[in-house]
Amino acid sequence: MSLPVTEALVAASNVYTWEPPNRVIAARYGLSPADILRFDTNTSPAGPDHLAEALQGPWDPALNEYPDSTYAELAEAAAAYVGADPSEILVGCGADEVLDIIAKTFLAPGRGSLVPTPTYGMYAVLAAQRDARPLAVPRLGATDGFAIDLPVVLERLPEAAVAWLCAPNNPTGTPEAAETIEAILDAGARLPGGGPAVVVDEAYIEFRPASLAAWRARYPALIIVRTLSKAFALPGLRVGYAVAVRPTIARLERLRPPGSVSTVSATIAAAALRRPELAAANAAQLGVERDWLAGQLAAMALPPYPSVTNFLLVRFGDQGAAEAAEEHLLRRGIVPRTFGPGHPLRGHLRFTVRDRAQDERLVAALATWMDGRTA
Ligand code: PMP
Repeated sequence: MSLPVTEALVAASNVYTWEPPNRVIAARYGLSPADILRFDTNTSPAGPDHLAEALQGPWDPALNEYPDSTYAELAEAAAAYVGADPSEILVGCGADEVLDIIAKTFLAPGRGSLVPTPTYGMYAVLAAQRDARPLAVPRLGATDGFAIDLPVVLERLPEAAVAWLCAPNNPTGTPEAAETIEAILDAGARLPGGGPAVVVDEAYIEFRPASLAAWRARYPALIIVRTLSKAFALPGLRVGYAVAVRPTIARLERLRPPGSVSTVSATIAAAALRRPELAAANAAQLGVERDWLAGQLAAMALPPYPSVTNFLLVRFGDQGAAEAAEEHLLRRGIVPRTFGPGHPLRGHLRFTVRDRAQDERLVAALATWMDGRTA
């Protein structure tokens, strides 16, 4: 007897996980949780002081009442930030909830979910949860900047209900050529029914301001996804949003939970969005720090791939070499992002750019690892 779809999906181990929490790593290596440095989550170190200035309040969120389920204030702030109308914004509990709502809206058993890989792992997880048909299209190699394999993507596009693009791309840190995305949107628009929904996840856009949000008027299938977790340095708030033309947002709204963003989060996120220069300053500062860290890594024969984001991808060799380096770092309280044996980036580690003192700890730990290898 075959399992009902939902049970089979729950049984499948396709769950999005990341590295263990601080207290687990600390217990495993006999360290204090306070000594653990997270280089795995692409967040910001405690933001620059001026970020705090925007977040001081005074706040008066009415916690005895539910949030405004239309999130008018937050949508207005996001709309002003991206240059859209508030009716063209959908807010969510992090970009992850926005992606989830997109999956619920467009995917169903057997419908195609096109993903240029490697990319953000959540797209494949969401497709699996909806029993959609995965259409994974491998990207070109490192020497081609991990670019999307456009001819193959265009060939598979008619089978897709959603195409998930990530610009800049996580975990490679590379930009996505605007002409490539344009070609995908144009090809989709020519398909019967207007083609698949084309998601452009701009989680890291502030690190390389080249948003395609203005293209929504030309392409009703385009859904831009944003977050306050990266350059805005507010992942604990859990706030993300989508930008698309009104009819597309109206479709997504039908599957949005009415109150998944708390009043506190919505209030603070709106305040942060009204001060975009602070996120831009944080991104600029992290860009300078990234280039310093990249230089340090290159000097110790661990050159990262060119990155336009707040993280660096480094090839260590085979899977064994990456695992040995990971273990060496974890013993010192440094948590890299790892890629499991079946992942196309096995043999690599990814490092978030943090502040100078923390990055120096990473560099020192990697230096002792390299010394150990050559000794
Ligand atoms: N998209 C990408 C590309 C990401 O890297 C992340 C977080 N790692 C997200 C979305 C999720 O962001 P949020 O914290 O807003 O859920």
